[in-house]
Amino acid sequence: SDKPGRTILASSISKTYVEEITKKIESMRNIRPNGPLLVGFLANNDPAAEMYANWTGKTCESMGFRYELRRIEEKDFLEEAIIDANRDTSVDGIMVYFPVFGNAQDQYLQQVVSREKDVEGLNHVYYQNMYHNIRYLDNDKQLKSILPCTPLAVVKILEFLKVYNNLLPEGNRLYGKKCVVVNRSEIVGRPLAALLANDGAIVYSVDINNIQKFTRGEGLKFSKHQVEDLGNYSDDLLRECCADSDVIVTGVPSPDYRFPTDYIRDGAVCINFSSHKNFDDSVKSKASLYVPSTGKVTISMLLRNMLRLVENRQKLNQL
Ligand code: NAD
Repeated sequence: SDKPGRTILASSISKTYVEEITKKIESMRNIRPNGPLLVGFLANNDPAAEMYANWTGKTCESMGFRYELRRIEEKDFLEEAIIDANRDTSVDGIMVYFPVFGNAQDQYLQQVVSREKDVEGLNHVYYQNMYHNIRYLDNDKQLKSILPCTPLAVVKILEFLKVYNNLLPEGNRLYGKKCVVVNRSEIVGRPLAALLANDGAIVYSVDINNIQKFTRGEGLKFSKHQVEDLGNYSDDLLRECCADSDVIVTGVPSPDYRFPTDYIRDGAVCINFSSHKNFDDSVKSKASLYVPSTGKVTISMLLRNMLRLVENRQKLNQL
């Protein structure tokens, strides 16, 4: 047959998380009778951001959260508005729809969001913990660190697809697996490559300029990933990396890009997180499991992060 494998949709992967989250919200009724409150800040006129904001709102409300979209007409007032929400004890989670200024000021604004309310997991402390493979915020290992939503969503998808082998010790469950990640942005691709390598995989991290290898070394001797430059980007080098790769993840933000189907080894798992379709339909003739988009899992991770933040704050108040 021309389709040896299966296409798996993000909506079916997110189901288990939606159930888990809905249950947890019920168990929080004593402290949050109307559900935890997520505040989204929209300070641009980007219709895509507006759509994403509306979708976040609907998803939140369908799962028992409260969602408030705060529109900021004057960009220069956004920082104060975030600080107000940081201080407001009725606000449980905060997210900002970027780009706002479209330059480094956006990274500054992201860090203005209080670490305790950063549902997207973009605070520097969370990033550094992730890169250093540190999973807790405290020495007593009571407070779990937060992971950035989209990389975390790809990890959860790989768990669902059983690429993670749960017979292996936690933290090594990708031992023996090789993955290609086409995207090395600071928001998704680089953290994703690090997460997969920290879990034991050999990861080829591909961007428009070059290809790097992220690993924990021979026999997973290091406790966190190391990075090695393999050379400038070329189709030949990419093809070589793909030849024995078990997983191919794409995130190229371009409508014209298509990952070459003939580079995919028979039976590889293929996942696209770009908002554009990065795989041609012929991927189905090669992939064992193909996940065409990840957004629904990402939003589940956002809400899961939010519940973790509420729990962490609850534990902190008890200490
Ligand atoms: P970005 O522009 O910051 O990064 C793009 C990356 O892709 C860069 O590393 C670039 O070098 C690489 N790249 C571009 N063209 C390439 C090519 N031809 N070959 C190899 N590498 C190439 O974008 P981003 O913020 O990482 O977002 C990427 C995509 O992911 C967008 O479509 C965005 O909408 C989507 N996204 C999805 C989610 C989700 O939850 N599904 C979350 C965030 C972003």
